[in-house]
Amino acid sequence: MTYSEFYRHSIDDPASFWAEEAKRIDWQTPFTQVLDDSRPPFARWFVGGTTNLCHNAVDRWLPTQADKPALIFVSTETDEERILTFGELHGEIQRMAAVMQSLGVVRGDRVLIYMPMVPEAVIAMLACARIGAIHSVVFGGFASMSLGSRIEDATPRLVISADGGSRAGKVVPYKPLLDEAIRLSAHKPSAVLMINRGLTPFSSEPGRDHDYAALRAAHLDALVPVVWLESTDTSYILYTSGTTGRPKGVQRDVGGYAVALASSMKHIYCGNPGETYFSTSDIGWVVGHSYIVYGPLIGGMATLMYEGTPIRPDAGILWQLVERFKVTVMFSAPTAIRVLKKHDAHWLSRYDLSSLRSLFLAGEPLDEPTSSWISDGLGKPIIDNYWQTETGWPILTVAHGIDNTPTRLGSPGLPMYGFDVRLLDENTGETLGPNQKGVIAIAQPLPPGCMQTVWGDDERFVKTYFSSIPGHQVYSTFDWGVRDAQGYYFILGRTDDVINVAGHRLGTREIEESINSHPAVAECAVVGVADPLKGQVAIGFAVLRDPAAAASSADRLALEGAVLAVVNQQLGAIARPARVYFVNLLPKTRSGKVLRRSIQAVCEGRDPGDLTTIEDASALNALREALAG
Ligand code: AMP
Repeated sequence: MTYSEFYRHSIDDPASFWAEEAKRIDWQTPFTQVLDDSRPPFARWFVGGTTNLCHNAVDRWLPTQADKPALIFVSTETDEERILTFGELHGEIQRMAAVMQSLGVVRGDRVLIYMPMVPEAVIAMLACARIGAIHSVVFGGFASMSLGSRIEDATPRLVISADGGSRAGKVVPYKPLLDEAIRLSAHKPSAVLMINRGLTPFSSEPGRDHDYAALRAAHLDALVPVVWLESTDTSYILYTSGTTGRPKGVQRDVGGYAVALASSMKHIYCGNPGETYFSTSDIGWVVGHSYIVYGPLIGGMATLMYEGTPIRPDAGILWQLVERFKVTVMFSAPTAIRVLKKHDAHWLSRYDLSSLRSLFLAGEPLDEPTSSWISDGLGKPIIDNYWQTETGWPILTVAHGIDNTPTRLGSPGLPMYGFDVRLLDENTGETLGPNQKGVIAIAQPLPPGCMQTVWGDDERFVKTYFSSIPGHQVYSTFDWGVRDAQGYYFILGRTDDVINVAGHRLGTREIEESINSHPAVAECAVVGVADPLKGQVAIGFAVLRDPAAAASSADRLALEGAVLAVVNQQLGAIARPARVYFVNLLPKTRSGKVLRRSIQAVCEGRDPGDLTTIEDASALNALREALAG
């Protein structure tokens, strides 16, 4: 079958297509209806079926590969290595699940996981899945305010955390940030479970905080059966940034997600049971959820979890791991490759990479020089994936499990099966043809694995994602794109104020709110500016309450440092702008809207575009002067 036939089947007859794909996982009770789309845009997949993500990821493989590696952990930060077989992982998950139950966690409760890349994080996620608790993993690079707002929104009964993480040899304490986050949140978790790695001392709150090692020791022989969940029950919440200051909880189901991942392992990643999958992402991101934790294990593969950077102890570390663990499928981000590109290309050919079939890259635009450099250096196919936290698995790529559709430089590829991708005019909603720029949209229903709704806010789900294209209730990706005559898509950047720094999605609004909280700042604007390494970086322009506060260059430097420290402390280093400049006014329209695209253009040395609505054109010159220093 060709890919185009396979794809057409998925769009023309989703029920029969997905009924077939659903056979890739175990069901405790068969579903009675493949798709319930009676209340659009909400799609409910595999209605009536019961299953469990942990069962499909672990228990299901026990009869055939209990003694085979399931979770391979390598930390070049702490020089640790641990390999857990499927059998051992099964045991650890039950201990963790028993500990969680002893702390009062029951089906449907939220458990927030704020952890570095250690095995216990994966064990905790799978333990939640096992007992039907809903996990919400928060990236360890977020600081107290980001974490606090997520605690408040998810209202977890339990938070699982660790004393600290380590990044490039520097210990990052987690507990003080967590304590501050809980202080800031109106909701208080009833328990905090601490994994003590012995990296950094921390204080404990008696009655609330518990030591995992001690509780684990009391549950060594725990047997915790899988709880069979409705396919449409919620498996997890993962927060992502949008155009408001309030992050959205992307809510995912159980059965649809399991089927989508099992299917993608076969058709897109071409991974086989017994092989090793290596994703360099972090469990705090959607790639980590789908392709460090659930996808590889559901596919019966070992997953390699790596705590460390791509260049320590040297720029060959990733490839050394590929050789040692005979990785067959690897997944990374363009930024990681651009970091490697600054080092000698000989690192790419130093190790035996014969096991590796393909390298998948995702999360941000893959520029052609980076793609060619890594593909030449490794001598392996490089496959770009375009997707979003909301979709859970790729919207655009090539499915080499179906046929060998060629890749095309600069394009992530073709619409994946199940995704009815459209290019639409943002003003008229009209369908566009080849080589016309439009908004990338997805017609209903969203396929299995995509978000069910925004946690606790169905209205926000409909309003945010399905109401932006005139005349059509379609899902907007908020990305500009263009399609060539052969159907390959090219991504041209976001239509909204979301920026992408090193593959991490950030809302400029959140950063602006943080900068505005500095007492000297009256107002500010943050934009994403092209950067050769990170794709984009955030740049801020702030108007001060008292311009005299930044009169001298020494004043400006000190104030910039103070403003950046606020962002660092509230949101985390990940959200800290590369620079904050002080100006007397911001370019705005006469109705008071900040002209972000013009600001961005000026920062990138481009023409600022249509300025007919600008209130005071001198504001752009002020920006140029500030940038010139
Ligand atoms: P996130 O939800 O954090 O994964 O961010 C999703 C956004 O990242 C998308 O809406 C795109 O703007 C961008 N993105 C992800 N993958 C790609 C890709 N392969 N090429 C271009 N942009 C991408």
